[in-house]
Amino acid sequence: MAVNVEHPPHSLNLQNGHSVSEAFNAGSSGFSPVSFTTYQNVIDGGLYDTEKTRRTIDPATLEENPEVPVSTRHDVDRAVAAAQKAGIAWAQVPWAEREAVVRAYADAVESYINEIAEIQVREMGCPLAMAEGDVQWGVGWMRGFCELPQPGDIIESSEERHVVERYTPIGVAVGIIPWNGPVVLACGKIAPALLTGNALILKPSPFAPYSVLKLAEIGLQFFPPGVLQALSGEDDLGPWLTTHPGIGKVSFTGSGNTAKRVVEACSSSLKRVSTELGGNDPAIVCEDVDPVVVGRKIATVAMLRSGQFCIAIKRVYVHEAIYDAVLAEIVKYVGSVKVDNGLDEGTIVGPLANRPQYERVKELLSNIEETKLDVLPKNGQSIERLKGFFIRPIVINNPPDDSRVVVEEPFGPILPVMKWSDEADVIQRANNTDYGLGASVWSRDLVRGTRIADKLQAGNVWINTHAEIQASTAFAGHKQSGYGSELGVDGLKGWCNVQAMYTRPL
Ligand code: NAD
Repeated sequence: MAVNVEHPPHSLNLQNGHSVSEAFNAGSSGFSPVSFTTYQNVIDGGLYDTEKTRRTIDPATLEENPEVPVSTRHDVDRAVAAAQKAGIAWAQVPWAEREAVVRAYADAVESYINEIAEIQVREMGCPLAMAEGDVQWGVGWMRGFCELPQPGDIIESSEERHVVERYTPIGVAVGIIPWNGPVVLACGKIAPALLTGNALILKPSPFAPYSVLKLAEIGLQFFPPGVLQALSGEDDLGPWLTTHPGIGKVSFTGSGNTAKRVVEACSSSLKRVSTELGGNDPAIVCEDVDPVVVGRKIATVAMLRSGQFCIAIKRVYVHEAIYDAVLAEIVKYVGSVKVDNGLDEGTIVGPLANRPQYERVKELLSNIEETKLDVLPKNGQSIERLKGFFIRPIVINNPPDDSRVVVEEPFGPILPVMKWSDEADVIQRANNTDYGLGASVWSRDLVRGTRIADKLQAGNVWINTHAEIQASTAFAGHKQSGYGSELGVDGLKGWCNVQAMYTRPL
C-alpha cells in the first residue's frame, strides 16, 4: 500500500513566478520560447557560457555544429553547491506538486519536438523520424513515471506501533548520458530523479551535448534554480562529477568499460550507482514462423540507429528449416534501406554517430574481411556519394560463434545470422556472453516461446517482439549489462534511500 512519506505540504513557486498549478494548467503555452541557436550550461537557474568552448561534427556532413561550453572544475563546484541547496527545498515539496511540475515540463518538451529532434540528428546522425520518436518516447516516459505510485509501504499498523518503509531522496544526483539516445535517456533520468525529490545534474556525452543542454534549459521555466542543471564538457568532466563528495547518486548509461571507472570513482564516497550498459541481444527464431514477416521485423530492429542501440538485435539464430528464407528476407531489407543524412526524407540508416565509433566499426569490418566471413548482399548499394561516417549495412551469413562480430557488440549496421537445430543448444549459445540486456524468441507456439524465454539470461526478454520498453516496467541489465533498474517503480526507488520508520504511542 502506498503511503504519504513526505514532509508537510510546502507550497512551491516556479522559477518564472508561476505557481505549480498554473504551470500544470497552462502546459508550455505561457512560457518564453527557448532558442536553439546558442548552447550554454544550465547552472543554478541561469544560462552560462564558459571561457573555452568546443564544437562537434555533424556525422552526416562533417560540418561543424554550434559551440558548446567546456565546463571547468569550478562550474562543477557551482552546480553541486546549487543542487545541494535546491535539493533540500525540493525534497520538501509534496509528491503531487512535483508530479504536476514534471507533467508541465513534459508538455513543454513535447512542444519543442521539431527543434530537439533536428539537433539530435545533427549531433548523432539518426533519421529525423527516429529523433522525433525519441522526443515522444522521452515525453511518454516522463508522463508514465507520473502515473506510478509513490514508493513506500505500511509494514505494520497496530495499537502498539506503526512501521513504514519510506523512500527518501538521496539529495544531489548526476545523470551520465551516452551519445546514442541523448533525449530519451535524459528524460528517463529527469522524471524519476525529480519526482522522488532529488536535484539532478545532467552530463551529456561530449559527442552529443546539444539536446541535453536544451532539455535542462527548458526546465529553467519549470523547476526552482538548481533542481535541474546540465554541464557540457570534455573527458575530465565525468570524473570530476563521480569523485565529487557533494554528490550522492550517479545514474550511468554507457559502455561497460566506462562503467567500471565510474563505479571505482564513486566508491571513494560510497555513492549510490546504477549502470545501464551495452548489450549483445540474441533473437532465436523457431521454424514455425512466417520467414518474411519475422525476417523483416528482426532486420528493422537490428538497423535502428544504424545498429547503435543498446537493445538492437545483434545476433540472430534461425532454425535450419527456415534459415534460407529468413536470411533472404533480412538481406533484402538490409540491402534496400535508404542510407543517407538523417534529415533526408525516407532515410532509415544514418551515419555512425561520431568518428571514434566509425573507426571502431571499420576495424571490425577489417576483421570480417580478414577472417573471410560471408558478407551479404554481395552487390550492396554504393554509399560513396556520402561524405560522412557512413557504413553500408550488411549481414554476415552463418559466422562461427567465436567470431568477433558475434561475440562483440558491433554498434554498427552489421548483423550476424546463424543456424540452429537443437533447442537446448541454441539457448546455451544465446546465453554464452557476458552481456545480458535483452533477448527475444520468435514462435507461433507461445508455450514453446515461453519455455525458451524462461531460460534466457537477460533483463528484458521478449516473445515475438523486441525492444519494447515502457516507464511502468523495470528496465535493467543482467551480468555485465549493468545493475539497478532504470524504469518502473524499481526505477523510482533507485533514486532514493530506503528508510524504516517505527512509531510507538507514549
Ligand atoms: P561511454 O561509456 O563511452 O560514455 C558514456 C558517458 O560516460 C559519456 O557521457 C561519457 O562522456 C561519460 N564518461 C566517459 N568516461 C567517463 C569517466 N571516466 N567518468 C565518468 N563519465 C565518463 O559510452 P558511449 O560510447 O557514449 O555509448 C555507447 C554505449 O552505451 C554502448 O555500449 C551502449 O550499448 C550503451 N548504452 C546502454 C544503454 C542502456 O540503457 N543499457 C542505453 C544506451 C547506450
